[in-house]
Amino acid sequence: MSVECVNLLGLTRPQLEDWVLGQGGKAFRARQLWSWMYKRGATQFDAMTDLAKDFRAQLSATAQIRLPEIVTRQDAADGTIKWMLKADDAQAFEMVYIPEEGRATLCISSQVGCAMDCSFCSTAQQGFNRNLTTAEIVGQVLLAQQELGFQPGENRLISNVVLMGMGEPLANFRNVVPAMRILLDELGLDFSRRRLTLSTSGLVPQIYKLAEESNVALAVSLHAPDDELRNQLVPINRLHPIRELLDACWHYIDEQNGRSVTFEYVMLEGVNDSPAQARALARLLKGHPAKVNLIPFNPFPGTQYRRSKPAAILAFLDQVLKGGVMATIRKTRGDDIDAACGQLAGRVIDRTTVRLGSRRIGVVTQNRVAVGS
Ligand code: SAH
Repeated sequence: MSVECVNLLGLTRPQLEDWVLGQGGKAFRARQLWSWMYKRGATQFDAMTDLAKDFRAQLSATAQIRLPEIVTRQDAADGTIKWMLKADDAQAFEMVYIPEEGRATLCISSQVGCAMDCSFCSTAQQGFNRNLTTAEIVGQVLLAQQELGFQPGENRLISNVVLMGMGEPLANFRNVVPAMRILLDELGLDFSRRRLTLSTSGLVPQIYKLAEESNVALAVSLHAPDDELRNQLVPINRLHPIRELLDACWHYIDEQNGRSVTFEYVMLEGVNDSPAQARALARLLKGHPAKVNLIPFNPFPGTQYRRSKPAAILAFLDQVLKGGVMATIRKTRGDDIDAACGQLAGRVIDRTTVRLGSRRIGVVTQNRVAVGS
């Protein structure tokens, strides 16, 4: 099969309908196709038995349902699975499956690398190469289902999808938003909006835009209770400080009738883990639709940071709760295969002219990071 064939994966339902009509097919064929792809996980047109034979032949000649290719798969002792997926001959991105009591989460990537340059994140060390396409983003979910042995008609194997893998999803708005639409579509994968979470380092203008175009659950990587510290840990803060970021979050919840924003807070020993910082964090969030998720830092080679001691994490939790804000501690999973938060490195050839952190500060435009003045 030629690779010039159009990949039907990644077209939204209206786009698929247009494509089918363009091929001389009827609109209801698009719906059948959609259901085969997303409800049943079919990747071969031959398997689509209720489509007319000549239509199937025509599809096979012009189109493909192309999932990302697996480079490696690693299974952790706790059931977590990490796949490295091919971006091109030299590069790869990662996805992680995390089974838990009563739910199973798939953590997917949105970019090959990342340009946000957060100082405690392993992906940042790799630099940024390119945005993933909508097909590559949605394809991760279908591929994971296939790998886990999903059979049509059975209960779903993945209950939650989180955009918390490699990359900054809001810096790839153009491909991420259609991908989320496809995941939410009730004729297909049919994820509920509460079980689909987008996590951002805080691209404020894109949070406002997201409020117009989507209603998924929002998580924000806060990591510090004041601008001085957050400027160091999450450099995008220099463009969009905490006050602006929080306003955008509350706006998002108002617009989307959402429950609350989850604020991720990585616990770094001696950096952001004091009781005073916990109280400051609670003061920022109290009275707002917010919950805090404390993430014990996951180390990676070359990092200057250490994970906070368990007692410090518990004391921090206690102070946040006493300050009137809901908070939990995230369990570290899959760390024996470097599959935990912030450990996804993939294989990335850095081609950024600028990254935000230690280098010259850039300007974040709608879909990409560009060089600032
Ligand atoms: N760019 C998005 C999506 C990545 S999500 C974002 O920043 O939200 C990955 C989550 O893991 C983020 O909350 C991130 O801050 C956190 N993280 C990154 N590096 C980590 C590390 N080394 N240990 C623990 N958590 C980390």
